[in-house]
Amino acid sequence: MTRRGSEQFRWTSEEIATLRDMAGRVPATRIAVALGCSYWAVVQAAKRLGLSLRCYVTRLVWCDECAAWRSWVDPRTGRCRVCRMRDQLSGREAACAEELAEMTPAQRAVYDKSEAQRGTRPSSLGPRPRKRESCPVSRFERDRAEAAYLLDLEEWEYRRFKLPYDAAKKRLQRMREVRGTNPRKVMK
Ligand SMILES: [Zn+2]
Repeated sequence: MTRRGSEQFRWTSEEIATLRDMAGRVPATRIAVALGCSYWAVVQAAKRLGLSLRCYVTRLVWCDECAAWRSWVDPRTGRCRVCRMRDQLSGREAACAEELAEMTPAQRAVYDKSEAQRGTRPSSLGPRPRKRESCPVSRFERDRAEAAYLLDLEEWEYRRFKLPYDAAKKRLQRMREVRGTNPRKVMK
């Protein structure tokens, strides 16, 4: 492998600062383009400076609505699954409120009694994931840990809406049973 490029390239302190800034964040081939030198010049300089060029390529995408990095956003709306679930929950809660308002006092009494008997069950949503304080050995490790944390956080935020959504869905079903308007039962 020829390394002529590295010998020809003379590093200014500004270029070294740029290399320090980009190393591990931007692939070496792109650093070379940015600095106008060869790939090998970048590799050799990084080695001399003790910089790792290994990049963690994040596949996370930005959701404007909740201003967070997510695993996915809807290409049509630009919204993530957390935002979508938040909407689904409020829709379901509105449906519950509507159903409750439609009940006769007798139906309401039956419903309230059965709900009281059910009691409240503790939510199985665990604690909010915390960013782990560590001293990562490299930018690669740090970026990888950061991405893992962001994914954990997304899952937790999703479940924060999904759990009450599921509960509201079941509550709605029970209300409709009391009112005799359960679509599934009516169809039979
Ligand atoms: Zn979102």
